[in-house]
Amino acid sequence: MNINTNYQNISDSYLFSTIAKKVAEFSAKNPDKKIIKLGIGDVTLPLCKVVVKALKDASDEMGVKETFRGYGPEQGYEFLKSKIQAYYKSNGTNLDNDEIFISDGAKSDLGNILDLFSTNNTVLVPDPVYPVYVDTNTMAGRKIIYIDANADNNFLPMPDENIKADIIYICSPNNPTGAVYNKDQLKKWVDYANKNKAVILFDSAYECFITDETLPRSIYEIEGAKTCAIEFCSLSKMAGFTGTRCGWTVVPKALADGVLNKMWLRRQTTKFNGVPYIVQRGAEAVFTSDGQKEIQENLNYYKENAKLISEVLKKHNIWHIGGKHSPYIWLKCPNNMTSWEFFDYLLENIQIVGTPGSGFGKNGEGYFRLTSFGSRENTQQAVERLDKFLG
Ligand SMILES: *Cc1c(COP(=O)(O)O)cnc(C)c1O
Repeated sequence: MNINTNYQNISDSYLFSTIAKKVAEFSAKNPDKKIIKLGIGDVTLPLCKVVVKALKDASDEMGVKETFRGYGPEQGYEFLKSKIQAYYKSNGTNLDNDEIFISDGAKSDLGNILDLFSTNNTVLVPDPVYPVYVDTNTMAGRKIIYIDANADNNFLPMPDENIKADIIYICSPNNPTGAVYNKDQLKKWVDYANKNKAVILFDSAYECFITDETLPRSIYEIEGAKTCAIEFCSLSKMAGFTGTRCGWTVVPKALADGVLNKMWLRRQTTKFNGVPYIVQRGAEAVFTSDGQKEIQENLNYYKENAKLISEVLKKHNIWHIGGKHSPYIWLKCPNNMTSWEFFDYLLENIQIVGTPGSGFGKNGEGYFRLTSFGSRENTQQAVERLDKFLG
């Protein structure tokens, strides 16, 4: 056999292992000092009550002969798809039921969707970015070109007619920067993709953090998007499903004359057996009115944390974006420190752990990501430490 040598081209990600190592070393030397972690990209609040009840009820059903279920539809149960369809409709987007595919999360689908595209395609990825886009394409041996996201464009790069790409990744609200495209900006990407017969892979994992009604939560709010875009969404950040696992992907039938919708159905029915019935019942509960109310409380909790962090940075004139429609705050390291210098500086002096921006791409150098996924108490303590230290 011959191995897929493209795997040799994936760059080792030392980001989170290096962070863990540095933190462990510091703790060993300073056992009395409390470290506050604002680097995590994972939720911390538990599942909401209606979800837990739905999960339990569904488990009970599975233990009774009359209501037991075996293999389900690979693309998801109708009861969940219709809830997601209604969720889109409430934001002004009409989707057919068979354009929605339930999955075990956005990361899997973002990788798996590449089965549908030739390896000859050129991929356009913003820098800095969520590393999954780059690594999955590198594994397949696709050519990747980067588009700069930087302070000059507020970390929202716009299409360039001189750049030819077939597959375009957009993540809005963005991880790691928290930047969000407005409708006019997204329209330019949609027009560019339609004109160049490219496909946009739109990652909307953080759409639930958007509160400004004028900002698009789905790419399908943009005219022309159904002929050029596939959308990936997830209950991970929306409802704390990072460990429970459920998401969805929208493949419109207007895209490539329905070919991609058919291919994705074929791909999923061949290689995927669907999300567990119990989990889909839990996901369904997220979309009930009680579920929406409960998840909103959790999202508000994170947003309030973000506000506290943002306020202290503002007070000390530290350039930053994000936090408003995103759990992430992206700041410029003060005094021209590099990302890792600032990491060490915070750890050594005030025991706050964040994520060096350079870990997300070359344009992330000199920047730093803080997250609002910590507890209120820890966030408040971190903010007090920052206030004293920066003042
Ligand atoms: C967390 C995250 C997701 C969600 O991934 P899941 O596999 O659904 O947990 C997707 N995209 C980005 C950019 C993320 O940060």
